[in-house]
Amino acid sequence: IESKLPDVGTTIFTVMSKLAADTGAINLGQGFPDFNADPALLDLVSQAMAQGHNQYPYMPGIAPLRAAISDKVASLYGRRYDADSEITVTSGATEALMATVLCAVQAGDEVVVIEPCYDSYLPSIRLAGGVAVPVPLRAPTQADPYYRVDWQKVRDAITPRTRLLMLNFPHNPTGAVLTQADLDTLEDIVRDTRVLLSSDEVYEHIVFDGQPHVSLASRPALAERAFVISSFGKTYHTTGWKIGYCCAPKALSAELRKVHQFMVFTVASPMQHALATYMQDASHAANLPAFYQAKRDRLARGLAATKFKALPCPGTFFMLADYGAISDLPEAEFSRWLTLEHGVAVIPVSAFYRQPAAPASNHQIVRFCFAKQDATLDEAIRRLQSV
Ligand code: PMP
Ligand code: GLN
Repeated sequence: IESKLPDVGTTIFTVMSKLAADTGAINLGQGFPDFNADPALLDLVSQAMAQGHNQYPYMPGIAPLRAAISDKVASLYGRRYDADSEITVTSGATEALMATVLCAVQAGDEVVVIEPCYDSYLPSIRLAGGVAVPVPLRAPTQADPYYRVDWQKVRDAITPRTRLLMLNFPHNPTGAVLTQADLDTLEDIVRDTRVLLSSDEVYEHIVFDGQPHVSLASRPALAERAFVISSFGKTYHTTGWKIGYCCAPKALSAELRKVHQFMVFTVASPMQHALATYMQDASHAANLPAFYQAKRDRLARGLAATKFKALPCPGTFFMLADYGAISDLPEAEFSRWLTLEHGVAVIPVSAFYRQPAAPASNHQIVRFCFAKQDATLDEAIRRLQSV
């Protein structure tokens, strides 16, 4: 058949995880914990199954889970989404993102994305018949070591044909986070436009150094045009459950649900019940920054004793590192070489670009995932010291 996604192969995360598994390398590539979720949460799943929660749940998600999400978002970000009409439980953030693009983007619409960009965004735009307009993040400089949004470039990229601006902060893979000043500027940019926003906030609970997460849900002028998306996989160490959600105003949620009901209809019942109960206790999410900050610092200390040059990581469980002092290989080749020759799998940052070989991605940077047991990180660091 004629491919609808001719440029798409198997995702880099799957490729690198398979290479790691085939070769016995330590997998610091794909973003998932190598430790188990809280036994209390796992027990709640068993209980839900024993209680008979094993049939189709309500299409947009079970009521207690939508209520718990509504409470959480209201208490953290100050916006009360109506649990009945404005919150949809999805099969991970991936499905929420795809449903957002499919419901919002008409053929020929322009969609602005920030590069580097999570790998599902561009294919979803293509499937919707939209036109992706990438805007590069501003790279770190001597004066400012963080990746930041270049809002002037975003402003310049928006035209009367722009339908959607896709944001992802804390940002995968750079770890960049937004500030209140960023949201001020964003409000100014979208005012008097028809631009909708998708805000992928799956790392909302993994922000470091005492900073608060800055959610688009916290600004009425943004929230009224936004699909705010998160994932329980990142927060509760359950990436394999594939459960996330989307909060959006009623009219947007209604369109999103039309796609959701024919893409997956609904998502696993016992997990929804377990999460609804587990979310009543906010302490797990509240402790997550300290938990991951210790791992971030462990990896940064370890990399300091290698030829890799770690970049600052204000959020997410990913750390970028420059390998220019080690090799001239392009990122994809270097990642493969590191896996095969030194037993540590990583992700090439070039995979997050529309054109992996283009000048915008012409750097020598790989991504390490530190959602790993300390022993795993220590052994990886030991191996990296000989690189
Ligand atoms: N968006 C970003 C930025 C991600 O990093 C990920 C997964 N790691 C997802 C979306 C997908 O989340 P999920 O596994 O819940 O589908
Ligand atoms: N989001 C994860 C990452 O960035 C991967 C998820 C996936 O493999 N689909 O590593």
